[in-house]
Amino acid sequence: MDFEKYLETINLLNRASVAYYRDDSPFMSDEEYDRLYREAVDFEWKNPDKKQNYSPTMRVGSKIREGFTKVVHSEKMMSLDDAFSVREVEEFFNRLDFVPAGGYVVEQKIDGLALNILYEKGKFVKAATRGDGSVGEDVTENVATIKEIPLEIQELANVEKIEVRGEVYMPKSSFEELNAAKSGTGEKPFANPRNAAAGSLRQLDPKVTAGRKLKFFAYAITGISDVDIKSQEELHGFLRGLGFKTPHYEKMEKIEEIEALIEKTVAERGELPFDIDGLVVKLNSFDEQKAAGFLTKTPKWAIAYKLPAIEKTTKLLDITWQVGRTGIITPVAELEPVEIAGVIVKRATLHNIEEVERKGLKIGDTVFVRRAGDVIPEVTAPVETLRDGSEKEIFHPENCPVCGAKLAKDENKVAYKCQNIGCQAKIVAYISYFVSKGCFNIDGLGEKQVEFLHEKGWLSSVTDIFHLSDYALMLSGEKGWGAKSVYNLLDAIEKARKIRFRNFLNALGIDGVGEFIAGELEKRFTAEELIAASALDLMQIDGIGDIVANSITDFFADPQNKETVGKLLNEVEIIYPEKSENPENAVFAGKTFVITGTLSQPREFFAEKIKALGGKVSGSVSKKTDFVLVGEDAGSKLTKAKELGVRTITEEEFNSMAG
Ligand code: NAD
Repeated sequence: MDFEKYLETINLLNRASVAYYRDDSPFMSDEEYDRLYREAVDFEWKNPDKKQNYSPTMRVGSKIREGFTKVVHSEKMMSLDDAFSVREVEEFFNRLDFVPAGGYVVEQKIDGLALNILYEKGKFVKAATRGDGSVGEDVTENVATIKEIPLEIQELANVEKIEVRGEVYMPKSSFEELNAAKSGTGEKPFANPRNAAAGSLRQLDPKVTAGRKLKFFAYAITGISDVDIKSQEELHGFLRGLGFKTPHYEKMEKIEEIEALIEKTVAERGELPFDIDGLVVKLNSFDEQKAAGFLTKTPKWAIAYKLPAIEKTTKLLDITWQVGRTGIITPVAELEPVEIAGVIVKRATLHNIEEVERKGLKIGDTVFVRRAGDVIPEVTAPVETLRDGSEKEIFHPENCPVCGAKLAKDENKVAYKCQNIGCQAKIVAYISYFVSKGCFNIDGLGEKQVEFLHEKGWLSSVTDIFHLSDYALMLSGEKGWGAKSVYNLLDAIEKARKIRFRNFLNALGIDGVGEFIAGELEKRFTAEELIAASALDLMQIDGIGDIVANSITDFFADPQNKETVGKLLNEVEIIYPEKSENPENAVFAGKTFVITGTLSQPREFFAEKIKALGGKVSGSVSKKTDFVLVGEDAGSKLTKAKELGVRTITEEEFNSMAG
């Protein structure tokens, strides 16, 4: 690095610090910051005469944000030197002019922000952020809303003054909740839990902080001389005794022992409910801490071992719209490849268009990507400050990227779905469904077999099922397909050609049309009538509202679906309900049933039967109820029936009545 590059680097680092500390809106990853910082340190070490006073290596944090009252710290709040290998930790402690005898305490380095809390005679008085180390921001009212911070500590009632220091953090789950809740508010998402914690604590309105579920770990005290604590380990016990949580720690005699702990921490950090970015190795003995002393911005008795970064920034190159097996269209972020904790990340799913909108992403953005533990990489937020105007808006496609069919919103109205039953992106899943129970019910044709036949090119649409006999000879020569199983399969297919209309409808997989609605539809329509029905016609049927009605008409309006259904109708013979099932002359005509308790079949089954035999099914027992069909563990409906003197029948009685 030459001098010019050095100046450029420290300028960039200073801007990054302001964005990170003051504005809670970083534009580079910690890993990138740390790398540049090291380059600056290295230059300054080699060229001490060229070191600039405004270098970030000379300062802690950054100046505080306008709007907050300033708090001058009674004792400076420091930063920590950092190490990226065990060797660097050893070298750090070797620089001491004595050999530590009291061992080390290695604590989790919580990724939050430092806080100083003043208690007088056991009462919470004031809380301040670290700020630039000397002057912090007064966040007393905000901190008072954090439930893990005691407002009164009986044990300190006689202690004039004590300051407890520690880390405010936001659990990962609260961070996710918070970012998700930002949808529709137009607010930017936070890049990570640390920034979310800082942004939440440094609010001018304490009510906002109160809603943010912040937590606190204590790890230091100052401003007190009459407490007899001799070591970091004892301090943990003392703080816990006062009601604080302290970070997890392990006591060690030698630095080498940290190696195993690092390995364990790397493996387990993904499971922790909060982010840690390293381990802090501290001399255990307070006498030794005192003897070691301080440099300008860091203690000489503690160092941060930084864990591999789980978050980096990279470019969002494009969005690919992927069609899932059910037809749901998912946006996938195509990223400039970036290594995160040992894995090259090139893609990350964005789940649905709402997520893209909520995160405010644009193609060409620099984005933060997180990969915590084994969790799938996630694009958390764009860096808006780095935009140059060339970024492109992201629009949802109107048509399926695989088959070109017009897309419709799915039932939950968040995702878009390809409704074309011939779409190759979902054909294996769809055919497997089409032949399952409740649909065409073809034995010997499971997902595995469908996959195989599809790969062979013999099964590309549902109508191909009825032409599999063309491949019978070739198929019986394939591994796992004996002549007998091919014969059985073809036989099952032939039998399936005769199909009840409700099963046929169910097999079409129209959004919102399951077995029950299909059963209702077959009572009113023939296939031809249904294809021509309007949404209004459909809404005449009990249980069909505008969403399902539109879903049915959209389905048949799709030319590809229309064609497939037409072809299917040429292959199969639809069986409609028999006349005897006509309600007028049926055994339950005019009778109202209520079904309660657990029966041998789902309630739908009995409801169907009652309706097929002319009866009605109601959800609640009244004087108008004729029969209550009672299963096991029946509750209030049975009680009500008894109260009103309504006749109750068992499943057996029902079956004999139904014939
Ligand atoms: P630091 O975060 O590396 O270490 C010091 C801090 O660790 C303390 O102030 C304290 O808040 C915290 N800490 C957590 N657990 C602790 C424990 N058990 N014991 C003691 N302290 C504990 O140093 P820093 O000066 O706060 O910040 C520098 C770091 O911040 C950089 O290394 C970089 O990763 C990040 N940073 C990033 C950007 C950016 O643009 N992304 C900008 C500035 C700084």
